Amino acid sequence: MFNKLALIGIGLIGSSIARATRLKGLAKTIAISTRKEETLEEARALGLGDTYTLDAAEAVRGADLVILCIPVGAYLPVMEAIRDALEPGAILSDVGSVKGQVMATLGPLVPKGVHFIPGHPIAGTEHSGPASGFPELFTGRWCVLTPAPGTDPVAIDRLTSFWGALGSNVECMDAAHHDLVLAITSHVPHLIAYNIVGTVADLEAATQSEVIKFSASGFRDFTRIAASDPVMWRDVFLTNRDAVLEMLGRFLEDLSQLQRAVRIGDGPGMEALFTRTRAIRRSIITAGQETAAADFGRPHGNASAVPEPVAEVLFREHGGGEDA
Ligand code: NAP
Repeated sequence: MFNKLALIGIGLIGSSIARATRLKGLAKTIAISTRKEETLEEARALGLGDTYTLDAAEAVRGADLVILCIPVGAYLPVMEAIRDALEPGAILSDVGSVKGQVMATLGPLVPKGVHFIPGHPIAGTEHSGPASGFPELFTGRWCVLTPAPGTDPVAIDRLTSFWGALGSNVECMDAAHHDLVLAITSHVPHLIAYNIVGTVADLEAATQSEVIKFSASGFRDFTRIAASDPVMWRDVFLTNRDAVLEMLGRFLEDLSQLQRAVRIGDGPGMEALFTRTRAIRRSIITAGQETAAADFGRPHGNASAVPEPVAEVLFREHGGGEDA
């Protein structure tokens, strides 16, 4: 599909793209670039690419597809480093969880003749780094592309086919719309998880150890989301501020109503809401975006006999991954 794929950043998402591209034979050469020597060495040891360099400009030279797989806050200096090395006719894309600010920041810097098509695979886990990637990450997940009006349709088709070959369903939409939808489906839920786990972190020691001891309830599932990469999520909230505040406002209004329902003992009101929310989960399962297995497919029964890493792999393979 492509002669040379350049991946700038080789963490969870970059390494998953590398693995799936290799497995499906979608690029003749995969060039990998990252910031730190130790990350580059880890990628090399895992055999994720064909060439490895700390110089992002060297990686993109001769590439017909370049994908930025780094936190959105790091885009500007990286773009300044690579822009003169981008080949005319190449596709420049990314995987960042926010799209409006990415387009505003990078758009004006893209050289003439380079096709800029921002993207966001709605797939992920709470793990980071080259070793955390796996080739099935994008299977059955959505990938949103947000090309500006007037972008070459042939280039959009090529990138759509690439993500399709990685296993994703692809949809094009306006960047502002993407940011609003993701604010409620991903960004605000992460903020809530960071907040509730932060509340526990601030509890006095005795209560905190009890929460950890008895955490096999709702709290435990929040901790998985709250274990997501701090730098990546800091950048999401710095760059999607307006949409997050809009959705957070709605959330807080609804939370106040629920608080009132608890205070006045409005049983029918609460039951009606909890029935509607249960139906939402069923529709996510029907849409193939979640496992129908109880407790997110965690192994039960002889679970105590399963060593922790195996249990974690089982969990991940059964679709327990979070998205961004
Ligand atoms: P990750 O596993 O933490 O990997 C981040 C990569 O970016 C590493 O190669 C890291 O290199 C590099 N990097 C970090 N800071 C950098 C900087 N200042 N300059 C240059 N390179 C830098 O992250 P990830 O989960 O793959 O996320 C990458 C992108 O994917 C983010 O934009 C995120 O919004 C998006 N995304 C994430 C998910 C998810 O669930 N994780 C889902 C969809 C989209 P070094 O190790 O060499 O520093």
